[in-house]
Parts: sequence; C-alpha cells; structure tokens
Amino acid sequence: MGEWFHCNTCFIQPGEGIMFHLTSCGHIYCEKCLKQTSGERCCMCSSQYTAMMLTTEMKPEVEVYFTEPLDLVNKNLKCLKQLIQVIDFQMNHRKRFFSHLKDMMSLLHAHCVRANQDITEIIKLREENSYLRRLVHEKGNKNLKYSVEAIVHYFVFEPAQQNLVGYIVE
Ligand SMILES: [Zn+2]
Ligand SMILES: [Zn+2]
Repeated sequence: MGEWFHCNTCFIQPGEGIMFHLTSCGHIYCEKCLKQTSGERCCMCSSQYTAMMLTTEMKPEVEVYFTEPLDLVNKNLKCLKQLIQVIDFQMNHRKRFFSHLKDMMSLLHAHCVRANQDITEIIKLREENSYLRRLVHEKGNKNLKYSVEAIVHYFVFEPAQQNLVGYIVE
C-alpha cells in the first residue's frame, strides 16, 4: 500500500498484524476502530455501512483503488495501443469493402449506359423496319427493285431514313 493508506480514525498505517477494512461508503478503518463503530454509522460520513476486510485477494473493482496510478496508466496504455490496432484493422477492411462497392457501382452504371444505348438503337431499327415495311406495302413487291449492295450501303453507311428513298428504284 502507498504512503497515503491509513485508518481514517486513528491514522495508523499498515504494519505487522494490523488488519484494515473498507466500508461501502469508501472509508478505511483498522480492526480496532471498526470494532468501536460496529453496528453504528460510519464515523466519517454517518452512513450505514457494510465493511470488507482488505486482503491481497480483492475483487478487481475494489483492488483498482489500491493500485499504483502509474501501473494503471501503463496497463491502460497497452489497452489503448490494442484499441488503435483494432480500429486500424477494421478500418482497412471497411475501406477495401467500400472500394469494391464503388467499383461495382461504376460497372453497373456502365452497363446501364450500354443498355440505354442498345434500347435507343433497337427503337431506331424498329422505326426503320416499320418504314421499310410501309414502303414495301405501298409500292408492292413486284414493282420494288433494289440491290443487295444498296441495302447494305443503307444500313452500314447511311442509316438516315431520308437516304433510303434514293436506293429504291421503281
Ligand atoms: Zn484505527
Ligand atoms: Zn463513511
């Protein structure tokens, strides 16, 4: 025990054969002084109390009050270092996962853009198909003459509808 430790009544400090007690109100009495107040209120604060003998084997929550403050600091520093390592470890994994999610979002966005382009292309082709069908219907198959080369040229090089008319020869 440190030099601060003493009986709150007679001020005796630890020595051979002297037992001390800690009260529930947080006061320390030697065996002799405790017997004098036994069953009464605490001499220091007048509270009704229960007392426990101070031995080398105390509960951790009691023992901590009799520990050297520097030892506590060192012990907590170890905990603090471990805490920092744990936070760092989890944060790195969190970053890695968020990075993966970000990549997935980019990929999804690219697929959406591509799908939109495909849909636009399909709509355009349907319109062209509809236009061609209408022309075929209007002109009649027997009067409509067109070369394969002209059709290929239309779809590959000049897809605009207005250019189609030039390739259809009556
Ligand atoms: Zn005493
Ligand atoms: Zn007390």
